[in-house]
Amino acid sequence: VSLRSPALVHAPHRSADLLLRDVHLFDPRVGLDARHDVLVRAGRIAELAAPGTLPVGGGVGPAVAGAGGRAPADGAVEVVEGRGRHLLPAFFDPHVHLRSPGQEHREDIDSGTRAAAAGGFGAVIAMPNTDPPIDSPALLDVVRETAASQARVPVGFLAAISMALAGERLTDMSALRERGVLGFTDDGHPVASAGVLREALARQRELGGGVLALHEEDRSLSRGGSMREGTLSATLGIPGIPCASECAMVARDAVLAGCEGGRVHFQHLSCVPSVEAVAGAKAGGAAVSAEATPHHLLLTEADVRAREASGPPARGAEESGVGGPLDTSMKMNPPLGTEADRRALVEGLRAGTIDCVATDHAPHARADKALPFAQAPMGTTGLETAFAALYSGLVVPGVLGLGLLVERMTAGAALFGLPVPRIARDEPANVTLVDLQDEWVAGEHGWESRSENCCFAGRRLRGRVLLTLAAGAIAYRTPAGAAAASAGRAVAV
Ligand SMILES: [Zn+2]
Ligand SMILES: [Zn+2]
Repeated sequence: VSLRSPALVHAPHRSADLLLRDVHLFDPRVGLDARHDVLVRAGRIAELAAPGTLPVGGGVGPAVAGAGGRAPADGAVEVVEGRGRHLLPAFFDPHVHLRSPGQEHREDIDSGTRAAAAGGFGAVIAMPNTDPPIDSPALLDVVRETAASQARVPVGFLAAISMALAGERLTDMSALRERGVLGFTDDGHPVASAGVLREALARQRELGGGVLALHEEDRSLSRGGSMREGTLSATLGIPGIPCASECAMVARDAVLAGCEGGRVHFQHLSCVPSVEAVAGAKAGGAAVSAEATPHHLLLTEADVRAREASGPPARGAEESGVGGPLDTSMKMNPPLGTEADRRALVEGLRAGTIDCVATDHAPHARADKALPFAQAPMGTTGLETAFAALYSGLVVPGVLGLGLLVERMTAGAALFGLPVPRIARDEPANVTLVDLQDEWVAGEHGWESRSENCCFAGRRLRGRVLLTLAAGAIAYRTPAGAAAASAGRAVAV
């Protein structure tokens, strides 16, 4: 990446010094799967050693442990007890909506990146469909400056492909690229005109980079629908969106990318033919990549029916008159598909047709999600539940291995030309400490996000993020993580 500006931006922070004692290191890229002591010094992984071998010294004083905020004595590091816990490379989310500028009542860069850190993410890419959308260098400067004062984890930005996301006139892709965008997207909207997308691909070629990330939807087919078109939508009397709305556009743009030698990334795939189109394009040598969301990998159209009393009452539930109450937290774009679609996405993730997981974290105000299903806005939050939901739903039942999940939750960085976090000596500390045994109910302790429209709310999940280090600093710790730390001692090393 040859950029004049750094691609990722975060608020000033204090580099971490800590000793993670006897923690199970797990990094499939490095081939690490064993217990170690890990010393982090000035935000870098300074040492990996056999468990219990790094000196914890002799009682320089109590650990900082979050509370009190006392700095360790000179030469001392905080000790975090890692026994029974796993240390993973921090996750990377290439698709989040931080809602700033213009919709800060839903989320802002501070709350959105707190949610990211709480979910174990060490960096995210923010979408440009804000209010106004990021379609000029001046607006890009504004969000980058906001991130430079608020972001708890590094944030990269995509700028709009077209002015005002209208799909007609290209943005100044060259100037935006020089100012540090990782790529371009009209997410929330398709690039309806093949001619406009072809122009964008030509510009990409001139610039020598800048991934085009595509929200694939043919609005002449989706026509304001609210859920996947099929027997269930007909039964419920809810306007449907046919899967062709997505897959026909994926097929078109895969062909375009191949013909133009361009680099495109397909966002939030949701159905069988889309996965097949991406697989075909890759087999033909096109430079395409794809992502899938936790909700499309775990849920189906049947989940739009609110669940029975087993969980807390679904927010925004309503009587549909025919099929019982509907849950607007299950309304997203693209809509949840069939069980066959879900299985194809999981298989695509396993096979590598789908390169990475992306949450499409999309915060909405409670009042908006309380509207009737057909009028409620589309989108679910996802940063705080992504890992636990996928671990519980796919790894625990033996569908996918933990290594594959970790690989796919970190691979998004490479797709946008960024280094993938690795657990190795001298690497910056981009790691997340998880307890794979811990069970919790999503939302039971509230959310770091400003919004609570999470499709997994109320579900019992296994696997809990305790501590996240992003760009070498502590970005998040649970009260439990703090308690673990206070059990250790500050020491001279
Ligand atoms: Zn989208
Ligand atoms: Zn999106």
